[in-house]
Amino acid sequence: PPLNRVCVLGSGNWGSTAARIVGSNVLKLADFDDRVNIWVYEEMVNGKKLTEIINTQHENVKYLPGHKLPPNVTAVADPKEAVRGATHLVVVIPHQFVQDLLASIHGCVSPSAQAISLIKGIAISSLGMTTMTQIIHRALAIPVASLSGANIADEIAEEKYCETTIGCSDPGEAAVWQSLFNTPYFQVNCVSDVIGVEFCGALKNVVAVGAGFIDGLGLGNNTKAAIIRIGFLEMRRLAMHISGAQIQDATFMESCGMADVITTCYGGRNRRLAEEFVKTGKRMSQLEQEMLNGQKLQGYLTAGEVYSYIDGCGIADHYPLFTNIYQICYQGRHPHTIFDGLNVDFSRD
Ligand code: NAD
Ligand code: 13P
Repeated sequence: PPLNRVCVLGSGNWGSTAARIVGSNVLKLADFDDRVNIWVYEEMVNGKKLTEIINTQHENVKYLPGHKLPPNVTAVADPKEAVRGATHLVVVIPHQFVQDLLASIHGCVSPSAQAISLIKGIAISSLGMTTMTQIIHRALAIPVASLSGANIADEIAEEKYCETTIGCSDPGEAAVWQSLFNTPYFQVNCVSDVIGVEFCGALKNVVAVGAGFIDGLGLGNNTKAAIIRIGFLEMRRLAMHISGAQIQDATFMESCGMADVITTCYGGRNRRLAEEFVKTGKRMSQLEQEMLNGQKLQGYLTAGEVYSYIDGCGIADHYPLFTNIYQICYQGRHPHTIFDGLNVDFSRD
């Protein structure tokens, strides 16, 4: 039979790290082609095309400097060309760009292919709140799994031990995804709860913004722990409200749940820029441009998307932390108001 082939769609900080892992794992898998295409949103870096730099230096010098990619990972600027012949798509771009990417590969993906989403974000449409696997499935009509965890990309590129969670409803497909991602330093645990895994990954970014506000206000570890606890409970409440029948409570104790909230609230970009938001009074979008060298934030956008959903449903008062974070980000409220109305009873959730 023809060999399977992986295409990584996205080449930011996490996309490049994921390509590093998958690119090295396919070399050990007999039923996978060695070649892995990585779709690169083309740009000029030091007067050269980023694709050319990656294909000659085997390093994404802009988004993952200091870490080599395996030479079998080939950068491709045209998304249609990148997905040609792929049986396994790894979708890992900032969530605000996913619809455009999917439109650009429409009709080019094999109907027998499968995908996995490493994206942390949700989308709001007339259908309500939609997850990334749902959006990808609707666009490509192929099975879509999710991967999310306590996974700060730079630490994984340095091969520091961590865990991650794959959500995949088919045990056979889950085993294949696990073989593509698992390494001694990147321990994959598979669960069947696709949507629970991705809700955790998306919603923790809002909690991370709250944690950054606490750091910006100069408050302490206990205060941040309170925000983490309440944020975690609001994450679970909202995920259950939207897709309760499909979500397993145990998912929240996997790496994608509690562990990711912790790491993001201490080490992530959303946290760091929310701290600066408080200290400088600049807008999140401005800080993103000034501080991230092309990397993108998900948290403040997700705060807006979450609020538009809970406000539209008339349930914002059940989510005081998410509401306060939204209002601080977008409505000029003082960061100290993050504590307003936080005494919610979660005991019956
Ligand atoms: P990034 O923020 O490091 O980089 C931004 C990427 O977006 C770059 O590749 C850039 O070329 C690309 N881009 C810019 N404009 C674009 C456009 N108009 N259309 C398409 N692409 C465009 O990216 P990342 O860290 O790989 O993030 C991808 C997803 O992975 C996000 O949802 C993020 O939450 C998630 N994630 C990130 C980390 C991490 O530590 N970086 C860890 C886990 C999950
Ligand atoms: P940031 O996007 O805030 O850096 O979070 C990365 C992440 O998702 C860690 O698991």
